[in-house]
Amino acid sequence: MQSHLLNSASVDTYRQLVRDGSDLVARHVAAAQRPFTGVTPHALAREVGAVDLDAPLADTRAALDELSRLYLRDAVWFHHPRYLAHLNCPVLLPALLGETVLTAVNSSLDTWDQSAGGTLIERRLIEWTAARIGLGPDADGVFTSGGTQSNLQALLLAREEAVGADRSGGPRLRIFASDAAHFSVVKSARLLGLAADAVVPVATDDRRRMEPAALERALERCRRAGELPMAVVATAGTTDFGSIDPLPAIAETCARHGVWLHVDAAYGCGLLVSPTRRTRLAGIEQADSVTVDFHKSFFQPVSSSAVLVRDARTLRHAGHHADYLNPRRMAERGIPNQVDGSLQTTRRFDALKLWLTLRVVGADGVGELFDSVLDRAAEGHSLLVGDERFHVVVEPQLSTLVFRWTPPRAPRDAALIDAANLHAREALAASGAAVVAGTVVDGRHFLKFTLLNPATTVADLAAVLDLLDGHATAYLAADRAA
Ligand SMILES: *Cc1c(COP(=O)(O)O)cnc(C)c1O
Repeated sequence: MQSHLLNSASVDTYRQLVRDGSDLVARHVAAAQRPFTGVTPHALAREVGAVDLDAPLADTRAALDELSRLYLRDAVWFHHPRYLAHLNCPVLLPALLGETVLTAVNSSLDTWDQSAGGTLIERRLIEWTAARIGLGPDADGVFTSGGTQSNLQALLLAREEAVGADRSGGPRLRIFASDAAHFSVVKSARLLGLAADAVVPVATDDRRRMEPAALERALERCRRAGELPMAVVATAGTTDFGSIDPLPAIAETCARHGVWLHVDAAYGCGLLVSPTRRTRLAGIEQADSVTVDFHKSFFQPVSSSAVLVRDARTLRHAGHHADYLNPRRMAERGIPNQVDGSLQTTRRFDALKLWLTLRVVGADGVGELFDSVLDRAAEGHSLLVGDERFHVVVEPQLSTLVFRWTPPRAPRDAALIDAANLHAREALAASGAAVVAGTVVDGRHFLKFTLLNPATTVADLAAVLDLLDGHATAYLAADRAA
């Protein structure tokens, strides 16, 4: 069994296996005609369930053949230009190379003595990101598993800063976020043990951006009620609409009220490297903490994310000194242990993917890719505006398009149109020809394109709109016949 471990005796086998694995993926990627096969969980569960996990197969080849059938054959392919559903990106090749390296070396980034150069590379990337944001000389941060964890950690730091040493309960803590903010804000509040109504939804304007005047009123109401505003979460790229809250006005309000400003740029962080649209993030440099998801708009494989803070000292709220791992005297001797500022202990060297991306593609190259996606979204918006079969919600600030199938001659029955939109999305996914998302706007069902693939063309968008129209029309016809 030792022959299965990576060591100096097995390196030839290792080389061969990595080649076999990448060959298999390459074959599937090359052959994928559709983003999805439309397989149902029921059909696949039978095949996965039939595997006897106590009886290994004869060799690796057999295991890969089985994997082809259980997973790769029906995988959802984000590289396909008609995958338009969620914030998943096609991945950059240098990042995949990084993934291959980091998983084999298997460094753990919690302490220097488990990672050495890995820690320094992660710290350089944190410095680089903080500088791109403009957080100033005292900034710091850490890579995380994703935006959800980054938001949780940022709000934990904000809570500790707000309550200080007083753990006695004190005034009730409040978080302010727009009604289009990510659900992980509410979830974080729950995990932090805050009251069920701790997150105060702030109204948005007609482009789904937080209204600074509404924030002001909410903060004043909070103070009058004797509650303690713990943080304001501004979103730079809401998940549904890609809307960017007015960061300068929100930052000014936060400064005046002395409230922690967290900017959730999980989606919008790609603007940090955009050669043409960086100004859309103006004001982000005033944040106390920022979430960035490299696995969204930097074309990195999952996971690659970070939380950045303006004041490195605030990270200590996430730390703990354990005698066996990172005793205080290591910090006193200047040994960099990233666990001192992380919620995780054992942690992947995900930063390596971004490192190789910047060293090969370059920041401008990544920014150009994101820019081309934003161009495509603008073109898609024009397409929808000129198409009487659809009603489109807002002009995109990033790369999502939220729209509803409402052809002029369709019946004026909103519930029926809801059902037709729902059906169109499901029927399209079942056909595998394209995958789109759905969401609810003002109680009604809408469809959604999330563009993150520079290979998607306007012709792709037009073709998918035709497919959606076909499915929805067929649904109404069947409904009428019934
Ligand atoms: C995706 C997203 C998150 C959550 O990030 P994960 O990496 O999926 O955990 C948080 N906020 C926003 C605005 C997002 O779009």
